[in-house]
Amino acid sequence: MEITLDIPLIRRIRRQEYAQAVVEVRELGPIQALRGSQKRHDERVAAAPDVGTLACRSGCSWCCYFTVDVRAVEAFTILDCIDRTLAHDEKARIHAEVRENSRIVRALAESERARRNARCPFLSEGRCAIYAARPQSCRNYHATDAAGCQQSYEEPENDEIDPDFAPGVYQAGGAHVEAFTAAMRDAGYDVDAYELNSALDAALSSPDARARFEARLRPFPDLVGEEVPAEFDDLAT
Ligand code: SF4
Repeated sequence: MEITLDIPLIRRIRRQEYAQAVVEVRELGPIQALRGSQKRHDERVAAAPDVGTLACRSGCSWCCYFTVDVRAVEAFTILDCIDRTLAHDEKARIHAEVRENSRIVRALAESERARRNARCPFLSEGRCAIYAARPQSCRNYHATDAAGCQQSYEEPENDEIDPDFAPGVYQAGGAHVEAFTAAMRDAGYDVDAYELNSALDAALSSPDARARFEARLRPFPDLVGEEVPAEFDDLAT
């Protein structure tokens, strides 16, 4: 789907979020800074002029079977959320599913991974068990036709499917995430993208992963992260 970029909007969000994130990452640390940024992210998406066209509804979960990538700061924030909010049995179920999904995913090539459905371990009775801490890619979902999401679920090998989406939501959320990521990168933190289950498994299995991350070292030395090219970088000024 072709869209017209709202360049003033992208620049404004990039400027505002970058300035705020730089201060919060420095003064509060990356994990606390992410929590503030997630709140602003939700507010920006809610203020997008086409937010009313979104098909995303509570109980609709086709996208929760697609591959989700996270950055290390999100993985540690999710683990904090699990510890704080979930009962022991639910936590144990999630940890077991994370480990099993990670074992499967890590044996797949990137192209195979993208063409395979896998239920997200946080999907519980049709809802997200960590909604407040859900990753940026889930926060920024922008589909306007759930039938397209369903088709992607039913035909995971079909890469011709191009569901309609809300351009205002896509640009507001995308510019916001890129600005926060740029602030983290400029502060020296790892901003590579990792597959959700693999990152959580690595964080759970390695007690010093978080300390390494906070010391600005690679948190998951055994995982290959991906440097995600910024879509709106050329429009930053
Ligand atoms: S983290 Fe939540 S919203 Fe994202 S894929 Fe998993 S269940 Fe769905």
